[in-house]
Amino acid sequence: MNSAMSNFDVIVIGGGHAGAEAAAAAARLGVKTLLVTHKLETIGEMSCNPAIGGLGKGHLVREIDALDGLMGRAIDKAGIQYRMLNLSKGPAVRGPRAQADRALYRAAIQDFIFNCPNLEVMAGAVEDLQIDEKAVSGVFLADGTKISAKAVILTTGTFLRGLIHLGEKKIPAGRVGEKPAVGLSLTLERFGFQLQRLKTGTPPRLDGKTINWEACEVQPGDDPPVPFSFMTEKVEVPQISCHLTWTNKETHQIIADNLERSPMYSGQIESKGPRYCPSIEDKIVRFADKDSHQIFLEPEGLEDDTVYPNGISTSMPEEVQEAFLKTIPGLEKARIIRHGYAIEYDYVDPREMSKTLETRKLPGLFLAGQINGTTGYEEAGALGLWAGANAALKILGKEPFLLDRAEAYMGVMIDDLVSHGVTEPYRMFTSRAEYRLHLRADNADRRLTAKGRDIGLVGEKRREAFKIYTSALKAARLMLEARNVSPNEAEKFGIRINKDGKRRTGIDLLSYPNVSFSNLVQIWPELAGINPRVIEQLEIDAHYSGYMERQKQDIEAFRKDEGLIIPLNLDFSSIPGLSNEQVERFNRARPESLGAAARISGTTPAALSALLGHVKRKKQRKTA
Ligand code: FAD
Repeated sequence: MNSAMSNFDVIVIGGGHAGAEAAAAAARLGVKTLLVTHKLETIGEMSCNPAIGGLGKGHLVREIDALDGLMGRAIDKAGIQYRMLNLSKGPAVRGPRAQADRALYRAAIQDFIFNCPNLEVMAGAVEDLQIDEKAVSGVFLADGTKISAKAVILTTGTFLRGLIHLGEKKIPAGRVGEKPAVGLSLTLERFGFQLQRLKTGTPPRLDGKTINWEACEVQPGDDPPVPFSFMTEKVEVPQISCHLTWTNKETHQIIADNLERSPMYSGQIESKGPRYCPSIEDKIVRFADKDSHQIFLEPEGLEDDTVYPNGISTSMPEEVQEAFLKTIPGLEKARIIRHGYAIEYDYVDPREMSKTLETRKLPGLFLAGQINGTTGYEEAGALGLWAGANAALKILGKEPFLLDRAEAYMGVMIDDLVSHGVTEPYRMFTSRAEYRLHLRADNADRRLTAKGRDIGLVGEKRREAFKIYTSALKAARLMLEARNVSPNEAEKFGIRINKDGKRRTGIDLLSYPNVSFSNLVQIWPELAGINPRVIEQLEIDAHYSGYMERQKQDIEAFRKDEGLIIPLNLDFSSIPGLSNEQVERFNRARPESLGAAARISGTTPAALSALLGHVKRKKQRKTA
């Protein structure tokens, strides 16, 4: 690397889901960016399940996409089975999900990364950080190469002191077959970061040629598949079906008989795993009354016979995995390609970061992805995009890009992480968001693309497509508002409404639960050519307008508290009336607003009122 190449604005360490989004976001904002990762060929690798999206997670992917990130576009080039989860429920909690062809997904991400303007990519292992005057000024690679930068984003996933557990075996690794990152953990400890341990696990991989598919239930995908990305007109990848099978009493007995050999129960693993994605041994202990658990058999690719049995992640010894698989219908003769395992790794207490994801201890150092205590590709991707954008904006001397809990699931996640920290791997759920009706997966573009455009994060192609779409939406709304019918006229088309003589516009009619856009087309055939995406938005807006109006008032109240900013350097111990325990809580989370302080668990109304009084008095003294 020559000296011109060794000076960057932003260096991103790690080419996983957080790293790819971080590097691409910084580069989109026009700063000179370097992505350093162990192996170029594993950029965009899915370490565990070959799928993107799901409940809550699908919202994050749509938000990443709305800000011109990569994940939505990549899965649309790799998705082999699409399903809209919770389709029978309201639009707020529907979750787009797609099964991925692992190789196509990796190839799509690599294509974006290798062809991204302002972005250099290199293979290497970062061992240490370069620090000048208490701020990060670059990195040192394992071979001693020094590369300078104004900001560094760490996205090392499960690699920090990663340790694989397989039965009684312990293997230092970041992922199966890949070395862990040890140097960076030591660096972080040297600078006083609070490192803790978490764990996650993966199931055995099976040879699809040895599965008896006849014994399993077929699970088809949606037809037609609904793309993830606003930029994808149609999914062109061939679609496949998945299959379902179930564990039974015999499976559970084998696992129960061998529990003491599971590193989770022998005491070999002490750290916590994702509660909502438990291993099969965990399920058998926690849900002892259940005789059966569902297993989705998910092919890993169109040209790949490997099958991912979703639902039986395990770190049991190899022979126990082989024995219990034999009891499962369809898997009696299944050959294991790779055994399941658990992995423990270091993460940094996310309360060490401000809302931009920059650490307080080392200015210029940003953290994103699993290193923040989250789990999942979607959470990692969203954090990466956020950190990449904020690192670039800082270098450009611009205001940070922050979204609050009423604007985006991303805002919910980051507020949760930096305010509360984590005690188990954090994953997104729709239940974490207070303003769900407003934060839907289907309107992520309407919520965020203009905000991304205004800071330069959204490229020209999407800006243009978004402009066309928003004009079409506006024009269609005007068309509906300009047309009206009397109750008697509506009845001729099968729409029964109160016969009060009042004429109803197209929008009024759509707000009735039993009226859909197709009814309106019967009345006004000229509406027939309207784009389906526009129709979906008109229908949802009209159906939920009353609820959304009410939610708007809640959002206004929330914003009032958020607007009361707590000074960054506030000494919480100087506030009269705060207990030591409360001072400690505030010091750990360093809330940036009164609203954030209120959400810290254990905060009492009395503590809040003391804080509010103190901040107000300080403000008055300043202005006096
Ligand atoms: P990763 O995707 O892990 O990427 C980290 C990248 O950083 C890698 O490319 C690595 O090579 C690179 N890197 C690390 N250290 C260095 C260094 N010092 N120098 C240069 N490059 C470096 N998620 C779920 O939601 N559900 C699950 O059931 C689940 N199970 C999992 C099971 C296993 C065994 C593993 C390993 C992960 C599992 N995950 C699961 C987590 C999911 O894979 C991660 O959440 C996601 O990949 C995190 O993305 P990331 O970008 O933070 O890190």
